[in-house]
Amino acid sequence: MPEPLETDYLVIGSGIAGLNFALLAAEHGRVVVATKKKLADTNTNWAQGGVAAVLAPDDSFERHVEDTLSAGDGLCDRRIVEMCVEDGPREVERLIQLGVRLARDASGHFDLGMEGAHTRHRVVHYEDVTGREIQRALIAAVHEHPNITVLESHIAVDLLSMAKYGGDPACFGAYVLDAASGEVKTICARATLLATGGTGKVWLYTSNPDVATGDGVAMAYRIGAACGDLEFMQFHPTVLYHPMAGSFLISEALRGEGGVLKTARGNTFMENYHPMKSLASRDVVARAIDNELKKSGDDCVYLDMSHLDAAFVRGRFPNIYERCLSLGIDITKQPIPVVPAAHFMCGGIKTDDRGATTISGLYAIGECAFTGLHGANRLASNSLLEGMVFSTRAAQAVRDVPRHRPAQVAAWSYGSATDSNDAIVVSLNWDEIRRFMWSYVGIVRSDKRLERARRRIEILRDEIREYYIDFKVTPDLLELRNLALVAHLIIESARRRKESRGLHFTLDYPDKLPEARHSEIQLTDGPRG
Ligand SMILES: Cc1cc2nc3c(=O)[nH]c(=O)nc-3n(C[C@H](O)[C@H](O)[C@H](O)COP(=O)(O)OP(=O)(O)OC[C@H]3O[C@@H](n4cnc5c(N)ncnc54)[C@H](O)[C@@H]3O)c2cc1C
Repeated sequence: MPEPLETDYLVIGSGIAGLNFALLAAEHGRVVVATKKKLADTNTNWAQGGVAAVLAPDDSFERHVEDTLSAGDGLCDRRIVEMCVEDGPREVERLIQLGVRLARDASGHFDLGMEGAHTRHRVVHYEDVTGREIQRALIAAVHEHPNITVLESHIAVDLLSMAKYGGDPACFGAYVLDAASGEVKTICARATLLATGGTGKVWLYTSNPDVATGDGVAMAYRIGAACGDLEFMQFHPTVLYHPMAGSFLISEALRGEGGVLKTARGNTFMENYHPMKSLASRDVVARAIDNELKKSGDDCVYLDMSHLDAAFVRGRFPNIYERCLSLGIDITKQPIPVVPAAHFMCGGIKTDDRGATTISGLYAIGECAFTGLHGANRLASNSLLEGMVFSTRAAQAVRDVPRHRPAQVAAWSYGSATDSNDAIVVSLNWDEIRRFMWSYVGIVRSDKRLERARRRIEILRDEIREYYIDFKVTPDLLELRNLALVAHLIIESARRRKESRGLHFTLDYPDKLPEARHSEIQLTDGPRG
C-alpha cells in the first residue's frame, strides 16, 4: 500500500485565495498546492475590472462599507464587511510587494476605476487584465518558494474525515486524483484549505472558465460542513454574445466609464428600471436585460461605447478592444452585443472571520466560501479583495490547528470499478443539468420552475451515483458528480427562500420579507454524494 503524502497544509486550488495562502503559510510550514489543471486555470486569471479598496482622498471606509451593504440587500454581515474594507489598503500594498503592477496616473497616484453600485472611484486595476497580472505575480512567487510543492493536473476527489474512523468529522486531508496516471493519492495535512473558486459551470451560459464546477462546496458538504446562501448566484449582465466568443466578459468597468445599454433598435432602457441607469447593481441590470429580451424576442442587447473618445477606449480596455476586434466588432465605432451569464457565487461553504468552516481542520477561502461579505448580492470587485483578506487571515489561523490523523489511513479503494465504455453518459448529463439550471433556476425563478428542476436533478443524481460506483473515476466524472450535487443544493436553497431579495428573484414571492435571513444547508441524509 503506498504511504500517504504528509504535509502541514494542503491547499486545493491555485487562484488568488489558494496561492496567497500558500505563500504566507509556507513561512511556517510545508505546503502542497493541488490544482485541477495548470496553475493559471482559475477564475482569478480571467478577472478584468480589479480590486476594490479605499485609496482615494474623497473616499472613506464608511462609504465602501455602505456601498457593500446596500448591494447585499440586508444580508451582509456588517462586522465582516468592515473587516474586509479596512484590510483593503493593506492587501493592495501586499499585491504591490508581490510584484503586481497597478495602473497609475501621470502624477503616480492609482488610476482608480468606477464600477456599478460603487459611489466612488475605488478599483485598482492593471489595464483590463488585472486578474492575469495578479495570477502571474503569485505563480512567480510560488515557484520560488522552497516550502511549496505544486501538483498540477491533480483533482481533489473527496476530503478525509475522522468520522470514517469513528471520531468527530475533523478533516485531515484529501484523496486526490492524478489525472495523468489515474492514481488516486492520499494527502494528509494538519489543515486543508478549499480554495476551489466558483460554480458558474452549473449554468449553460457563464463567464467562468471550465474549472468552476463547485467541487469545494460539494466536497465540504459531503463531509458535513455547513453551506449557505447558495441561491444567490450573480448573473453578470454583460457577457459577449457571439458564436465564436466562448465565455468572454465585457467588464462592468465599461459601463463605469460611460458605456450605455441599448436595445437592438438603439433605444436606451435602463432609465425605466433604476435611477443609476446602466450603472445600477448587477442584479437590477441583469433582470432588466432579461425582461427586455423576453419582451422583444431579441437574442441580445447592446453596450454602446462609440460616443466615447476612441483612443481612451483602446487605452483603457486593450484586451476587450482586441478580442472584440478579432471577432469583427470595433467597440470604438459599433455597439457590443451582450447577454447576461452566471458569474459569481455569493454563498458557499460557511466560514468564520478566519476562513474556518464548521469542520475542524477544514478551511474555505475565496469564492467557494460564504463569509458574510457579499450578502444577497456582491458589490463588483469585492471578491478579489475577499480572496486576499481571508487567505491572509487563514494563514495566521492555521498555525494553531492540531493534527488529526488515524493510526492507519485507508488508501483509496478502486473496488471492482472498470474503465468507462460509455463516456457519452457523462457529457449528456452534464449538458442536461446546465440547460435546465439556466431555464428553471436562472435570473427569474418561480415555484413551478424550481419544482421542475428538482425532479430532474433527482433522476440525474441517481444515474450519476450508479455510474460513479461502476466506473473508475476520471476528472469529467468527478466534476459531473460535484456539479449535480451543487445544482441540487442550489435548487433546495432557492426553494426554501419565500421572498425576492438581491440576486434571488421569484415570480411567486416578488416582495422582500421584513427580516433578512441566511439560508443554511447541511448533509442530513447520510453519506450520499
Ligand atoms: C470573467 C471574470 C471576471 C471577473 N472580474 C473580477 C474583478 O474584476 N474583480 C473581482 O473582485 N472579481 C472578479 N471576478 C471574480 C473573481 O475573479 C473570483 O471570484 C476570484 O478570482 C476567485 O478566486 P479563488 O481563488 O477563490 O478561485 P479561482 O481563482 O477560481 O481558483 C480556483 C482554483 O481551484 C481549482 N480547483 C477547483 N476544483 C478543484 C479540485 N477538485 N481539485 C483541485 N483543484 C480544484 C481550480 O482549478 C482553480 O485553480 C471575475 C470573475 C470572472 C469569471
